[in-house]
Amino acid sequence: TYVVIDNCIACKYTDCVEVCPVDCFYEGENMLVIHPDECIDCGVCEPECPADAIRPDTEPDMDEWVEFNRKYSEQW
Ligand code: SF4
Repeated sequence: TYVVIDNCIACKYTDCVEVCPVDCFYEGENMLVIHPDECIDCGVCEPECPADAIRPDTEPDMDEWVEFNRKYSEQW
């Protein structure tokens, strides 16, 4: 899965949401999040983010961000 990290806070762009083929972005408290079970790992959103806030969970130390993204995408 891909996850959104805190670079997203206060970002006003939603380019990522528009390109996602499965609509798995959700509103968190002050940033967007990706539902880790809905993301199909296509990678299309990553280069669209002007804040460099979208990362693959294969990067080091991403487990907490995966859980953060899950928590806020499941509150709806
Ligand atoms: Fe959506 Fe693809 Fe980004 Fe996952 S990697 S959030 S499916 S655009």
